[in-house]
Amino acid sequence: MALSFKQLIGRRVEGRGPGPRPPAHIRRLQPYSPVSSLDQIAQAEDTHTQFKLDWNESTIEPSPRVKEALMALLDGSSTLRWYPDLRADDLRGALARHNGVSKDSLIVTNGSDDALLLLCRTFLSSQNEVVVPVPTYNHFMVYAGAQNARIVEVAEPDPFCKNIRHLERSISALTRMVYLVSPNNPTGIVWGEKDVAALCKRFPKVVFVVDEAYHEFSGQSVIQLTQTYSNLAVTRTFSKAYGLAAFRVGYVAAHPSLCDHLHRLHNPKSVNTMAQVAATAALSDTEYLKNYVEDVRIARASFVEFLREQGFEARDTPGNYVMVRVPDPDIFIAGLEKRGVFIRDRSRQPRLSGFVRISVGTCDQMKEVQARILEVIESAGW
Ligand code: PMP
Repeated sequence: MALSFKQLIGRRVEGRGPGPRPPAHIRRLQPYSPVSSLDQIAQAEDTHTQFKLDWNESTIEPSPRVKEALMALLDGSSTLRWYPDLRADDLRGALARHNGVSKDSLIVTNGSDDALLLLCRTFLSSQNEVVVPVPTYNHFMVYAGAQNARIVEVAEPDPFCKNIRHLERSISALTRMVYLVSPNNPTGIVWGEKDVAALCKRFPKVVFVVDEAYHEFSGQSVIQLTQTYSNLAVTRTFSKAYGLAAFRVGYVAAHPSLCDHLHRLHNPKSVNTMAQVAATAALSDTEYLKNYVEDVRIARASFVEFLREQGFEARDTPGNYVMVRVPDPDIFIAGLEKRGVFIRDRSRQPRLSGFVRISVGTCDQMKEVQARILEVIESAGW
């Protein structure tokens, strides 16, 4: 029965009507669950240090140079009323020098999520397949799914092992993109230069996206290959080792010919002035980054040893996180939360039953975390 105009308006005002619906492939997507420990941390008493080890953020403040540069920006000029530098010239220049790549192979984005979104929007359509070794960083699937591309998941019996032959066999004539996270979140698998170069060469029509969100911790990268292969894009972020997650800055490094395509959809206003200034300042303090990465590396090794001494299966990774299999993830997570330590449940992901992911901070911080883990073990009677 057709509704009258008045009935239609009435429905809209009450907000009860079905409303406009997005296409079926969007309705199928699962929204990112915005569950965050931030609310609990904000409510916690000041007496107890809280450890946010659930999202692999840095556990220390960014370099003091960031604050200095931001204060100078706020004090010294009136540029806040203008749009940001649309070419992010200073930041791209610093990134080009830092990475030894040409400036025209760099596009600065609103976090590396934004770089992944840009790659998917530019290259994928409903005619395409995207090959993704799993388990991995799931948010990418939302971006690929939003383009209505078919996602071909490649799973190994042991989720901590890679199988490049299996990956190659999963690439078909319909494959337009392969998404590799290196080191992988959460398993720590690394895709080295030899592997990636061979893949780029063998499948020139496929865009290989290597997500290097944690590369500073692993010390390994394939970024140099972007200067040779026009079908490779490397995404990076300032949210992890540089401690700037709140600012939302990332970038994509790719051959200039691939960047030309990305520029068609890239929003050059998406990285604000403060974020550009903060990222440039953080990048300049190489000593600060080196010290933090080294501290985390040492802390990680002894943390893994500690976990194994408790009888747990602990999987080391080259990132700033480890995976641990515990007898009951719910009890472990809740026990730690009660003691101000927030970690991530991964036990519901395929083949990761029993596993939780714990971000690793400095040696001093992890000593305190270990003490709180011991309390949980004791109270659980494990
Ligand atoms: N890639 C991976 C592998 C990640 O783990 C994350 C953050 N969890 C991101 C990308 C997104 O990082 P950002 O958007 O903050 O740069």
